[in-house]
Amino acid sequence: MKYGNEVPMGDGPCSDCGQENPFVWWTDNVFWNAVCRQPGEGNEEPILCPTCFVRRVFEAGYQPLAFRLTPDWPWHPERPSA
Ligand SMILES: [Zn+2]
Repeated sequence: MKYGNEVPMGDGPCSDCGQENPFVWWTDNVFWNAVCRQPGEGNEEPILCPTCFVRRVFEAGYQPLAFRLTPDWPWHPERPSA
């Protein structure tokens, strides 16, 4: 799958700030649940932009030094054209 120079937009708008996601992103399911789910809450999942997710991480009491941004390649990655 090629997008040319366009960055594929993520789901949106963000449940917290209302902005569109600037790109498609995800985090580990266990970490997402720890940050975004409270005991006794329903199954409704928020849609979060990366900034609001990080804000929730710190509000939940986690204090990571940084976040790793790695590409999630399609099944058959294509090299960028020159
Ligand atoms: Zn947001």
